Amino acid sequence: MARRAVLAGGLAVSAVGFAGLPAGAAVRSSAAPSISSTSDWKARDASGSIEVLDSKPTKIIVHHTATPNSDDTSQSHAFELSRQIQDFHMDSNGWSDTGQNFTNSRGGHLMEGRHKSLSALKGGSQHVKGAHAGEQNSVALGIENEGTYTSASVPGSLWDSLVSLCSYMVSQYGIEPGAIYGHRDYMSTECPGDVLYKRLPELRESVGKATGKVVVQPLSWTLLRPGAQGPNVTALQMLLGARGLSVPVDGVFGEATQRAASRVSVERGASGPSCFGARLDEPGLFGGLAWEVVTPGLGSGSGGEAVRAAQVLLTSRGHYVPVDGVFGDRMVSAVRDFQATSGLVVSGGVDRASWQGLLA
Ligand SMILES: [Zn+2]
Repeated sequence: MARRAVLAGGLAVSAVGFAGLPAGAAVRSSAAPSISSTSDWKARDASGSIEVLDSKPTKIIVHHTATPNSDDTSQSHAFELSRQIQDFHMDSNGWSDTGQNFTNSRGGHLMEGRHKSLSALKGGSQHVKGAHAGEQNSVALGIENEGTYTSASVPGSLWDSLVSLCSYMVSQYGIEPGAIYGHRDYMSTECPGDVLYKRLPELRESVGKATGKVVVQPLSWTLLRPGAQGPNVTALQMLLGARGLSVPVDGVFGEATQRAASRVSVERGASGPSCFGARLDEPGLFGGLAWEVVTPGLGSGSGGEAVRAAQVLLTSRGHYVPVDGVFGDRMVSAVRDFQATSGLVVSGGVDRASWQGLLA
């Protein structure tokens, strides 16, 4: 994907919002797609009360169900999937109802997930708190997309209905298209799979086009998997060391590093039940908000292991600095060079956006 022009704040803005629309084009509402209600797919009653918040959600989180990539595109298959997910969430996870707010099948059938989510969406002023992404549940709508997209491509029918549902959500609640995220942006999980995750920039663009809104593409945290090697792992090992979780600094994401990293994920609430079909923990993954725990803001005068981690990353990105743990003038200048070439705000200090860029 082509590099985008960049705005202050380290956020990239696509040309679509500016150049793709006539001057003065107004934000427009997107038509409501057809969405089957919980009674349509014969959901069970919730076992407890549904929390309906008198506030609008501010973001959308995209998931995959991690179930087989079925060829059955029928509505009856889609309804059966919704019932299976609800059974699992209630009977195995012990939740009061389906976790996600909406479900999208490979045939493109959209369905209400947690009860009351559809009426809340139609009303446009309330949010049904689901159970799909930890602390984000109170501000994020969750959409489960049928299938496993770690390597398989996304069917056109599922894609089109995902675009319409997101566009409708954006219109109804005034959500920014740039605030469409993947589950892994918050939690240490594969979800929604590499393939669907990599298409999120395109999803934001399509939603921006459909709603007439400018698209600001967010930066994201990288996801480390067991066995990963290289400077990102070396940096993580140093960052863990800076927090007193000493692990061998060998650049390999092995068991000792995974154990220490997983303590950080748990501490940050970035480790939780994986999406429906996986039905297993995903040990050893490190991503999302867990990175925020280990990446302190750094600047002139900082020192120690966290600075060494930033130095390893800068060098790996072609901005050589000695790995001496000292944030002196040479380091300030390397950081400024990196920020300038990456389209980030040039401050000479390592902030959240710089860490995300260095780890990308
Ligand atoms: Zn998920």
